[in-house]
Amino acid sequence: MPNHVFGRSTKGTLPVAVRGEGCYLIDATGKRYLDGSGGAAVSCLGHSDPDVRAALHAQLDQLAFAHTGFFTSVPAETLADTLVASAPAGIERVYLVSGGSEAVEAAIKLARQYFMEIGETGRHRVIARRQSYHGNTLGALAAGGNEWRRAQFAPLLIETSHIAPCYEYRDRRPEETVEAYGLRAADELEAEILRLGPETVMAFIAEPVVGATSGAVPAVPGYLKRIREICDRYGVLLILDEVMCGMGRTGYLFACEEDGVAPDMITVAKGLGAGYQPIGALLVQGRIYDAIAAGSGFFQHGHTYMGHAMAAAAANAVLGAISGRALLPRVRTQGAKLQAALEAALGQHPNVGDIRGRGLFRGVEIVRDRETKEPFDTALGVNKKIKALAFEAGLICYPMGGTIDGRRGDHVLLAPPFIIEDAQIGELVDKLDGAIRGAVGA
Ligand code: PLP
Repeated sequence: MPNHVFGRSTKGTLPVAVRGEGCYLIDATGKRYLDGSGGAAVSCLGHSDPDVRAALHAQLDQLAFAHTGFFTSVPAETLADTLVASAPAGIERVYLVSGGSEAVEAAIKLARQYFMEIGETGRHRVIARRQSYHGNTLGALAAGGNEWRRAQFAPLLIETSHIAPCYEYRDRRPEETVEAYGLRAADELEAEILRLGPETVMAFIAEPVVGATSGAVPAVPGYLKRIREICDRYGVLLILDEVMCGMGRTGYLFACEEDGVAPDMITVAKGLGAGYQPIGALLVQGRIYDAIAAGSGFFQHGHTYMGHAMAAAAANAVLGAISGRALLPRVRTQGAKLQAALEAALGQHPNVGDIRGRGLFRGVEIVRDRETKEPFDTALGVNKKIKALAFEAGLICYPMGGTIDGRRGDHVLLAPPFIIEDAQIGELVDKLDGAIRGAVGA
């Protein structure tokens, strides 16, 4: 089949995916791939879910699209109601978009407009963290702290400053308790706000569990609470980016529930549409919406496909399946089994530095030296080799090289469907084990 579609890489051709069945994708040659990462933490219900398919057919028979400049729709309103009802305290409004970058972009612009509306017009700066990913559009890319992704676009990016991530494996000092480390890491935010001038800072954005750039690195207990306190002290909005870790991935609908923190805004996408439709959402505290409603009455932003009825119908079916089939407790149990299986297979491997995560969101960090935690030389392309070997063996996983304060490390991100069975956890770990051993030669 000719490959005229272009995506990320311009090298070689890709297999043609023709069918999805539960946790598997099947290509045109009939080869089956266990979807161990849900693509990029997207396919939380697996492929060809009967309830989502039925919901989409029914919605298509009713209404596919009505422009949000004229109408709202039943699926969009239902979705917003469900999200608000299960969101952390204070979230009252939902802005529906088509993906994660759009949600982050909207959050940044809404933060700026909020401060304009309430007369704090000097607030325009965003603080984020190194080794984070918030999307590829210019605002979201500017927020992200991944140097490799930012480098060639640097002249186009709004000014953002980056503090250290909360990365226990790399940054906790041997003599430090986990709690003390979390507070020290969070206090970098206060120092940065004071350095920039609090009256110029509008928002701090972070992923509660860092996905693409680090491989499922969770905030340590207490870290986000301290971040919340600091944001409150200086009137800075806290945006939690749950595009990857939200919508049940960690075993909670919102990852920040486990941290006991209520942000001012939350971005979600990926698992919200579970791959059945492109959809994202920005969830907003009532007071932010109210300030705009009482001011200009108009959020100066928007996209043609926002609030799309088909996309909202898919998300409603996904959320319905998550609650109706009790998938959140299942994510916690299957996640614990996945962690245990990874530890049993790879825990003693000389090149596996850390195995971590929450729920069915797990990461394996690969190092050259387990004692010193020194990463492999980037030029060796260890993560690319793991990806290729796993794919050859029929496993989709999500290996990346993350920038660790100037150094590069390799990790593998796992985010299998919530419906994964015990036997498939075994298959995933066996194939990953083989791919890692093949790539590092041990
Ligand atoms: N934010 C986070 C935390 C992500 O992981 C991603 C995508 O990986 C995005 C934002 C961007 O989402 P999208 O690719 O849907 O634009």
